Amino acid sequence: MGTTSTAQRVLLGESRNCGGALFAGTHHRCLGSQHDLPYSAHRGKKSVNRQTLDDLKQQIPLMGYLQAHDWHPTRPLSRGRWMGLCPLHGDHKPSFLVDPHKDLFFCYGCGRGGDVIRFAELYHQVKFPQALALLRQWRGAEPLLQETARFYHMQLHRHSEAVAYLYQRGVRSLELLEHMRIGFAPGGCLRGWLTQLGHSLPALRQAGLVTGVGYDVYVHRIVFPLEGNLYGRSLSLAAPPHRFLPGSKGGLYAWKQAQSYPEVILVEGLFDYAVLWQAGFHNVTCSLGVHLNARQFRQLCDRPRIVYLTFDADPNGSGQQAARSLSRRLRERGIVARLVSLPDGHDPNSFFVQGGDARQFQSLLEVAQS
Ligand SMILES: [Zn+2]
Repeated sequence: MGTTSTAQRVLLGESRNCGGALFAGTHHRCLGSQHDLPYSAHRGKKSVNRQTLDDLKQQIPLMGYLQAHDWHPTRPLSRGRWMGLCPLHGDHKPSFLVDPHKDLFFCYGCGRGGDVIRFAELYHQVKFPQALALLRQWRGAEPLLQETARFYHMQLHRHSEAVAYLYQRGVRSLELLEHMRIGFAPGGCLRGWLTQLGHSLPALRQAGLVTGVGYDVYVHRIVFPLEGNLYGRSLSLAAPPHRFLPGSKGGLYAWKQAQSYPEVILVEGLFDYAVLWQAGFHNVTCSLGVHLNARQFRQLCDRPRIVYLTFDADPNGSGQQAARSLSRRLRERGIVARLVSLPDGHDPNSFFVQGGDARQFQSLLEVAQS
């Protein structure tokens, strides 16, 4: 069982309120206490093996988990600690303190703090056992998805039909292939590769990478790695065009890169993203469909900015309708939303594929209406 070192005792904050009350309600076993209290979950009803929790926390450093959930340190403090905006409440000036060495956080705004498990509880609004399950899943799925993305990326250049398809969709620069880590799933070889690397078949099944009987799920698809997921676009007309792994589609695509721009272009598809990025618009992001999940919406609203909604101009008007409704919701949150009108029947991808260039697209942005 773990021992409590003095170093683990928490004195995260400077000096104010550093007593027990500050960290009341956290899950760190020794927060606010001089005693090595047993780590018990759920009002002490069921004792959780402390070693298991320590292992889990060691495998998921708090800073890495926070950053994977879009948290950005904004100001360094002494002893390697960082301040940033609190992801748990609507924070306007950084009040969220993180100590990467102790793997602890504390927010001076909402008064909450603790370890990575406590963070997962608060962030995902789940109870302790579910937070553990989420963290375990995250820890397990991450390396598997990384390996899978790497494998598919290696396959791309071995399959001329994949390269030809990308070319026809306007994806032409090597830099873009690397930036988006685009890959190709030929089908029939992922399972062998991953099991050879030591991943178990049940783990592959659980991640949704192979079917119940053990076949690769992604067959003949261009694959884009997402945060905690993979998007697969079928080359074959016989298969459903879009495919995701079970679970969330994650946040906005490549948000870390787009986030810092005062003006952001939002598109609905990854091929739209690709051509815009290639044309030099690096302030682009993608919602993977016209309906944003709660997290994506929160991301767009995380600071004042102008959002250019560039959804498909499809004949039934559904893209434009979704854009109008989103622009209303954004405006309610104080975000300036502009609707970009593409020529009829076009999406950003087809606009560029059929000869549109960066200058022409720029002029569409300039005339976009609020
Ligand atoms: Zn807070």
